[in-house]
This record gives sequence, C-alpha cells and structure tokens, in this order.
Amino acid sequence: MLKELKTVYHQGSQYIRDLRQTEVPGIFKGRPVISSDACDEAALIELCPTDAITSSPLCIDLGKCIFCGACAFHSPNKIKFTKDYHLSVNCRDALIIKAGEDKPLQIEISKVRPEIISMFKGSFKLRQVSAGGDNSAELELNASGNVQFDMGRLGFEFVASPRHADALVITGPITENMAEPLETCLRDAPAPKAIILCGTDAISGGILANSPALNRNFLEKHMVDLYIPGNPPHPLTFINGLLSLLGRDRKK
Ligand code: SF4
Repeated sequence: MLKELKTVYHQGSQYIRDLRQTEVPGIFKGRPVISSDACDEAALIELCPTDAITSSPLCIDLGKCIFCGACAFHSPNKIKFTKDYHLSVNCRDALIIKAGEDKPLQIEISKVRPEIISMFKGSFKLRQVSAGGDNSAELELNASGNVQFDMGRLGFEFVASPRHADALVITGPITENMAEPLETCLRDAPAPKAIILCGTDAISGGILANSPALNRNFLEKHMVDLYIPGNPPHPLTFINGLLSLLGRDRKK
C-alpha cells in the first residue's frame, strides 16, 4: 500500500484540470497566423500537397490542411502555426484563415440546432464511424477518453451502436465501400442526431480528395453540425469542439 501511495505521490496528478485552457507541449501545430507581408504566393501554393493554400489574399483552408508545416518552413515570416487548439467550427467557410487575421475560431452558436443544445448539453453519446480512415484520428479519439483528457467526466462517451447515439463522429475520407454503411448508421440513430466530421480526411478528403475510391455524396445529402480539423485532430481540439457545439465553453 505504501508503495502505491509513493507512486501516486511521485507521479502527481495525471489528468488535465481545465481542458479549455491548457498548454500543449511539443511540436503541436494549431491555428495558423498569416502575416500581411508580401511573399512568393505561387511557390506556397505549389508546395501545398492538398491545395489548402489560395492567393489574393493568401488563405489557408483548415478543412484541407494536413498540418505538414511545409508552408511555414518555406516562409517562416509569412506563416506561423500557433498552439491554439480551439479549431472547431460549424460553418465550413469559417475554416478559411486569411492573411492579416489573428482571431480565434468559434462556433456560431445561433446556427446550432436548438434541439442539439437542449437535449445533449449534459450527456452526449457518440457513435464513431471510420469511413476509410487510417487509424490516426481514431487513435486520438481513443485518447480523448484516457486518464489525461478523460472526456467522460464531461458526459462525452462513445457507444457501441448508432441506436444509442446522439451524434455520428465520422473519420476518414469516406470511401465507396463505406458510403452505404454510413447512411445505414445515420438512419439507425434516433433523432435528433448530430453529424460531426472529425479530421481533414473527413472534411475534405485530405490527401485523397481526388481519389476515385471515394464516394462523398453523404455530405451533399446531410447537414454537418460540426467540423473538427486536424490531421489527426488533437484530443483537446475534439473535446473543445464538442463543448463549443453544446454552448458549454461560455463563462456563466
Ligand atoms: S501545413 Fe497545411 S497549408 Fe501548409 S503546406 Fe502543409 S497542408 Fe498546405
């Protein structure tokens, strides 16, 4: 017993007390900031592997960006990646970061369906569907429940069946083989149900956007409630996205 107590004392607290405001250690790349300085925009557009960069003014589409960092490495005075992990939005256009802007990304709470907030504010059950994912976003979703992030304390939990789910969390670029199972999964979830695209692959197809193996018609038929960028998204980005969608990131 003494040995165990000694270990606990030595390791200290494992969990992150405030998931809304904490420092992310290491090489994490969060929200980019683009300066208004002149640069060789054509070279930046050319080097981006996912066509996430456009010009006049220079913009980065976080729905396409795989956070490889090549643009910031090429033009460090023009593009910097901050450690801001609050990246989730509910409007696709809000993922486009423009030169000269340095403002946090936010959910437009007036555009969230009222039933999502009123019914799921205290408990949000999630069914994860890997629609051709490479297991990277899925690993981070797993990590969201570990002892450090412990999203269960906030009422967020993955469930084994869409029949028990309040939301579908889609990872992967949505392959042809997963198009029908995804529809089935959505159909089997009880209303109201939210659709969450988790990761660059789900939002835009990412590096596989032009692959003939994809079938992304699902996204033309159904309204998306939350976009969570990242390649893969960090657990803090994922959890804070859910909190924002439910209006739980606001101070009372
Ligand atoms: S970090 Fe994003 S915007 Fe920059 S080159 Fe890589 S994919 Fe393109």
